[in-house]
Amino acid sequence: MEANGEEQPADVEQQELGDEELHHGDEEAIVLGDIDDEDGMEEEEEDDDDDDDEGMESEDDDDSDSAGAADEPSEDPVDTSDPANRGIKMYGCEHYRRRAMIVAPCCDKPFWCRHCHNAACNDNEVDPKKRHVLDRKALREVVCGLCGVRQEKASHCTQCGVAFGRYTCLLCSFFDDDVTKECFHCKDCGICRVGGRSNFFHCRTCNCCYAVQLRDSHVCIENSMHANCPVCCEFLFDSIKPINIMPCGHTIHQECLRSLAEHATYTCPVCCKSIMSAAAMERVWEEMDMSVQSNPMPPEYQTTRVGILCNDCQQRSTVPFHFIGHKCAVCGSYNTRRT
Ligand SMILES: [Zn+2]
Ligand SMILES: [Zn+2]
Ligand SMILES: [Zn+2]
Ligand SMILES: [Zn+2]
Ligand SMILES: [Zn+2]
Ligand SMILES: [Zn+2]
Ligand SMILES: [Zn+2]
Ligand SMILES: [Zn+2]
Repeated sequence: MEANGEEQPADVEQQELGDEELHHGDEEAIVLGDIDDEDGMEEEEEDDDDDDDEGMESEDDDDSDSAGAADEPSEDPVDTSDPANRGIKMYGCEHYRRRAMIVAPCCDKPFWCRHCHNAACNDNEVDPKKRHVLDRKALREVVCGLCGVRQEKASHCTQCGVAFGRYTCLLCSFFDDDVTKECFHCKDCGICRVGGRSNFFHCRTCNCCYAVQLRDSHVCIENSMHANCPVCCEFLFDSIKPINIMPCGHTIHQECLRSLAEHATYTCPVCCKSIMSAAAMERVWEEMDMSVQSNPMPPEYQTTRVGILCNDCQQRSTVPFHFIGHKCAVCGSYNTRRT
């Protein structure tokens, strides 16, 4: 009963928020693009803290925000005679191609991006007392990647005139030379996301952007994305990694979901419902049926029956006792518990 790992994600109806890389592709997987970038510091800074950035409330769109944003579609030509276009894609870090570093107010030091800061100052910081993550809303300054001049954040360098990114969101202090990601700023999320504005809608209940294909089909859970992954505990709303929404509506990293299935764990860590769509679980249950059939119980147990409650359909039934598992007599799920 190993789950077919590869397929699972696709079967789940989820949307992944893909940030950087959004893969839509997999069938049902819907990508929600998030980008992770630094989110929005909107002008109103009131909001929450750190990571969450969600500006849920933000409505204003910030004009400014996209200010400078030049989002061009993927292949568009760049006018190389324009000095603002010097150095496109030649600067940046493993996370982003950009021509400015952000100055972390907490450390008063420049980093290419918040992930670089958080890796250095949190993930890899050995002193627990010094660990901290960047408050993106507090970003005010940048350092030009070409001329090195530190300055107020802007779309272009005041010294050498270079553009800091082909896409720029000043609300988020986000710059990116890779326009194929089709970044856009969602004012309701309060952050920039990837994947193209027209491919997403902002669900006000979930308080997150989802692929338009999910508009009528996703399970709406209040603030569902404003939660930590139940496996690795990372905050999901602005995670860079692809995220799945399980059929129950709970959210989880795609890779964390996969690792659950690889360990033959098919229940949502939050609510115990099955983690994949009914069709995908069907295949798992069929394998369990075969295991049960090929492992008959000893004679003294053959007539033993037990009461179970199904985690998927919530129905009770009485079924033959078996050490491998108990199959719901109503819906066929093995995701059941003894009563
Ligand atoms: Zn810092
Ligand atoms: Zn410069
Ligand atoms: Zn933005
Ligand atoms: Zn949104
Ligand atoms: Zn929703
Ligand atoms: Zn996770
Ligand atoms: Zn759940
Ligand atoms: Zn059932």
